[in-house]
Amino acid sequence: MKNSYKGNRKIHFDYHTPPDFQEVASSFEPETLMKDLAEIGCELINFFAKDLFGNCYWNTKVGHKHPYLKRDLLKEVTEASKKYGIKIVAYYNVMDLYNVQAHPELKHRGCKEVQNSEGDYVCLNSPWLEKVLLPELKEISSYEVSGIFFDFLYFHQPCFCKWCEQKFMDEFSYEIPKDTKSNEWKTYTKWLRKRGNEIVRKVCETIHEVNSKILVGVNWAYVQRQPETPPDDIGFITLDVNETDCTSLNASYYAKYLRTLNKPFDIMTTRFLHWWGDWALKPVTTMKHECAVILANGGQCIIGDHFYIDGKHEKEVIKNISNVFDFISKRETILDEASSVPFIAVLHSAENSYIKGNGIVADEKSTRGAHKLFLECNLHFDILNEEGLISNIDKYSLVVIPEQMDLSETLITKIKDYVKAGGKLLLSYDSSKTKEELDAQWTKELFGISLKNKDSLGFGYIVPEVSDLQKNLPRMPIFCRSNFVDIEEKTAKTLASKLDAYTTITSKQGWEGWLGAGIGSPTFDRRYPTITLNEFGNGKTVFLGCEIFKAYFEYNDWTLRTIVMNAIDLLLPEKVIEVSSPYPIEVTLLKKEESYLINLINWHSERAYKTPIITENLPEINNITINLTLDKAPKNVLVHPEDEEHKIEWQWNGNKLKIRVGKLHIHSILEVRT
Ligand SMILES: [Zn+2]
Repeated sequence: MKNSYKGNRKIHFDYHTPPDFQEVASSFEPETLMKDLAEIGCELINFFAKDLFGNCYWNTKVGHKHPYLKRDLLKEVTEASKKYGIKIVAYYNVMDLYNVQAHPELKHRGCKEVQNSEGDYVCLNSPWLEKVLLPELKEISSYEVSGIFFDFLYFHQPCFCKWCEQKFMDEFSYEIPKDTKSNEWKTYTKWLRKRGNEIVRKVCETIHEVNSKILVGVNWAYVQRQPETPPDDIGFITLDVNETDCTSLNASYYAKYLRTLNKPFDIMTTRFLHWWGDWALKPVTTMKHECAVILANGGQCIIGDHFYIDGKHEKEVIKNISNVFDFISKRETILDEASSVPFIAVLHSAENSYIKGNGIVADEKSTRGAHKLFLECNLHFDILNEEGLISNIDKYSLVVIPEQMDLSETLITKIKDYVKAGGKLLLSYDSSKTKEELDAQWTKELFGISLKNKDSLGFGYIVPEVSDLQKNLPRMPIFCRSNFVDIEEKTAKTLASKLDAYTTITSKQGWEGWLGAGIGSPTFDRRYPTITLNEFGNGKTVFLGCEIFKAYFEYNDWTLRTIVMNAIDLLLPEKVIEVSSPYPIEVTLLKKEESYLINLINWHSERAYKTPIITENLPEINNITINLTLDKAPKNVLVHPEDEEHKIEWQWNGNKLKIRVGKLHIHSILEVRT
């Protein structure tokens, strides 16, 4: 029986300590720390076993203990934690700079032909794995830890070290390619991802041989940049979400995907303003907002902090986190074990991501664009990988495929059956096998169109031709900064046409290629279909002929968002949940036993010249209306947390429950009991 990995009142304490620092942990008091943490209801902490410099913080017989550390910190902290009922997860960083210096032959090697391939850390394919990592893990696993949190336990760059070359040569009989556009490169990156998974399995096996209850998590593994189903051995998914732009937006993006993987997952935020490279204090309102987003999307919260260089913790920070823990406590019980109600599925396919990315880290622009766009339309949706969609497609009312290539035959068959049986499908741009060739034959029947050719101009115009698509849009050609694919209609009906952009350059003067000097202006002599509607079996499909989601990610164009929303209204005039509000709010619809849980999150934030986006003051949102499709009268509608003022009214009219919410501050949960 494994440990359970539940809880939201968790803190990660970072403690990377330079090897020459003699006062290491001189002021660390495990008893005081545990007492302070117990007082604020903290359930679990991530505690350093090994930092990025390669310093170990336990009495290791096989590894490199911090040269000035006189104590066994891991032992002291696990012992002190028992008394207070706080769980310890050991943090282990695999970069191991000590061994990079001591044994340069173990180092990761980049090459000049492949951009951004150089890095300072040990290679996981080197003998370091057997000589250092596994023996050290055996030692850590004998301590009373609930879990081990790994940092960088995956290949995030291509490696050309002699160990990688040798292993690759043994399997494929040629050297690791350096041309990132070649087929050999695809073979190589696939092999590297497979090696990564083998190493994770080996690590889990080693730990579980010593203590089968220890849960293993790998920071950033199996999230959207590696959208594969995690192995069974992985106990929890975890990531310290990027905080250099908008933490809440990132948290929402990852959570909507991770909740479909059927594993507990943590999203780590910090108390800092600029992520880890910082000692500032984030406003409590921002911290609460980030945790609300995580909880409302089915995730678990963990807040990151640093110990001071001498090992002391900052009591004022603990006080602020206490305030956030109170906010969490009022919400976590009601949301515990709740799951997302399938409504709209957004596909984030692994193969597509690797084609567009470098084969090691996925490309996510279109998925992120779809995420932000749907969120700002108050829509409830999940993000699924191929496997997730194949298994669950029939539960969804609408499937969205945002510029995804190289879909598997199994998925394509599933999609066809789904639409035939009455499903709704929205697909944008090119879904061919490769970037080079237009060969998306499978879309022909479904969308009633054929793809002609792709342009790479990077802009064009959309002209909505039917009133349903013109709703809330200016009556002018809509500029779209994206590539288009030309289509020919077979059975489809045109919803919008494309106008070409003016591109002729007549003189040799400068500036003629500037968008402000005529280039890119619409031309009106020819119109081509670009957004089409088709019926297939009992279902309906909409095709969008441009990279509309990627364009939304890059340019935030409200007119593109309106076009997509109008297309969704055409496909799904009746929605399970519809929320109208004077300002966008994040909406999630969860189900727990006989109750629906509608989460509403205020999405205001402050304006800034520089990121990160911080919310110090959050204005209330008033007059929110929710329509939930319900085929029987609800027994009751409650609002959580009970001690916050919300002002709600509700009525049921036979098949819809209408709820009016008079006031939303950060996060409210409406519980509909059926
Ligand atoms: Zn290597």
